Parts: sequence; structure tokens; C-alpha cells
Amino acid sequence: MKIAILSRNPRLYSTNRLVEAAKERGHEVQVVDHIRCFMDISADQPSVHYKDREFTRDDFQAVIPRIGASVTFYGTAVVRQFEMMGVYCVNESVAITRARDKLRSMQLLSRKGVGIPVTAFANSPDDIGGLIREVGGAPLVIKLLEGTQGIGVVLAETRKAAESVIQAFMGVKSNILIQEFIKEAGGSDIRCFVVGDKVIAAMQRTAPAGEFRSNLHRGGSAKLVKLTPAERTTAVKAAKAMGLNICGVDMLRSERGPLVMEVNSSPGLEGIERATKKDIAGMIIEFIEKNAKPNRTRTRGRG
Ligand code: ADP
Ligand code: MG
Repeated sequence: MKIAILSRNPRLYSTNRLVEAAKERGHEVQVVDHIRCFMDISADQPSVHYKDREFTRDDFQAVIPRIGASVTFYGTAVVRQFEMMGVYCVNESVAITRARDKLRSMQLLSRKGVGIPVTAFANSPDDIGGLIREVGGAPLVIKLLEGTQGIGVVLAETRKAAESVIQAFMGVKSNILIQEFIKEAGGSDIRCFVVGDKVIAAMQRTAPAGEFRSNLHRGGSAKLVKLTPAERTTAVKAAKAMGLNICGVDMLRSERGPLVMEVNSSPGLEGIERATKKDIAGMIIEFIEKNAKPNRTRTRGRG
């Protein structure tokens, strides 16, 4: 099979592991920097131009999008173009776009009955007090809608702090959501790595002392964890709700069961492969071998 990995940098751990795993399994693989692609969207036959090449539907049987948060808009347009060409994209453009928007994700998860922390959203409310009461008062968590790697997530410990942070974010016209603080999670969260309809690996991430955000980029540490059946079904349900074949579902262990915080459409491989000693890249390629068929993407560039 000929596989394209959409990634800005072939030296990244995750990209490099996917290349290795694809080659090991006898596939041809090319890393394509989506930012440097251009497309003639009016052409009769959709194609993607890259460097001095023009990719048409026969050049690849599968695309693995690894689209960074800062280039979601252009990156998903490139994925959509491959979908229009009929090339199988393991995560579809609409699903990636959905997952990148925390508010949209939360609404979708809630609609499908996936447990999430009590969450409120506001643009410029007259009643910040009411908004704070909605999520059960302080302490509470305030999140920038498009934040990632823990940046843009603030714990406001008192109502006064919450009010001023909310006002500050609104003053700079940032979209935020406000969430109940799940104290009993104790600075830990669970990352479930979903491939298809299975959780293939999971790790618990714990924040360093004095920090509540467990992101590895914020100095969190990872270890192997045994999931409960409820956590497993929640993760798979969340992945389905988002329409992602490959994703990282992050959840908090709360008194009322697993609560999903976000679903990541380009989950990193380094932390989870190290923590679990599993060949996650190999399992992704294996999934693609079983599922990649032309015109198999559900949306084919629609919507
Ligand atoms: P990001 O997209 O920046 O990773 P998250 O929503 O995943 O943002 O939040 C970052 C981290 O902050 C989480 O991994 C978790 O450890 C902590 N956290 C987020 N929301 C809550 C919450 N409602 N209660 C307790 N801890 C939280
Ligand atoms: Mg996160």
C-alpha cells in the first residue's frame, strides 16, 4: 500500500514511528507537509500539488493526518481534498475540525450521552455570577476554546478570581468555557488511545506537585493504568461521537464515573508507547490495512 502521512516534520517521534511501522509492514510511505501543499479546487479531477509533484487518486491508498492545532484550518482543507479524490483518510476532515473545537466537542459528547464535567459557555454575559453558579461555584476551571497542551486552562480557586479571569478573557474577546473542577481526580487524568472501536492502550498522567494540569507538556508524568469497563466503553463512545477512527480520549476519574474532557485527533505516540511498551504505530498501520479502501471516507469532502 502507498501511505501518505500529513505532518509538518518527519523527525517528530510520532511521524517517525508511523513511517517505521509502515515500512516494517512492507508499505511505501511518504511524509507530506500539508502546509506546503496547494490545490486547484476548480479542476475537474481534484489533485494535490506538492513540491514538483501532483498527487492524484492513484498515488496513495491511505492518508494519515497529523494536523497540528495551529494549522487546523489549512490542514483540514488538504485532508478534505484527499477525501474528494476518493483517497481513504483514517481521520476525516470534519471529525478533526469537530475535535479541535472544545465547545462543539462538549456539545456532541453530551448529546450522545457521554459523561462530561458540568460545563457552561458564554460570550459576553451580563451575569457572570450566574454563569459561575451554573457550574457549582468556585473552584472552577476556565478554558480557552482553542487551547492545547494545557495552555489556556486556568484553575480559579475563588469566586473573585473566577470573575476577574472571566472578565479578562472576555475583554480580549477570547472564547472560553467554564467547567466544574473535578477535585477528586487529584491532578491526574486518563488518556485512552482508541483505534477503530477498541481502546488499544491507556495511561494515567499525573501533574507535578503544585500543578493541576496533567499534560506531559506541562511536566506531567505517565504510567500504565488498568481501565474499568465503564472507562473503556466511555472512550469508545466518545470516539464514535466525534467520528474519529484514531484518537486520544482524555477523561477524569470522578465520583460519578469517567468524565471526558477532550478528544484529541492527532494523539502523540511517544508518551503512550513509552508508558505501555506497546507498538501503537504498528496497530494504527494494521487498522489502515484492514479498512483503507477507495471512497471509504464517510463524507468524501462534504460538509
Ligand atoms: P488541553 O487541551 O490544553 O490539554 P484540557 O481540557 O485537556 O486542555 O486540560 C488540561 C489538563 O487540566 C487536563 O489534562 C487535566 O489534568 C486538567 N483539567 C482540565 N479540566 C479539568 C477539570 N474540569 N477538573 C480537573 N482538572 C481538569
Ligand atoms: Mg488535554
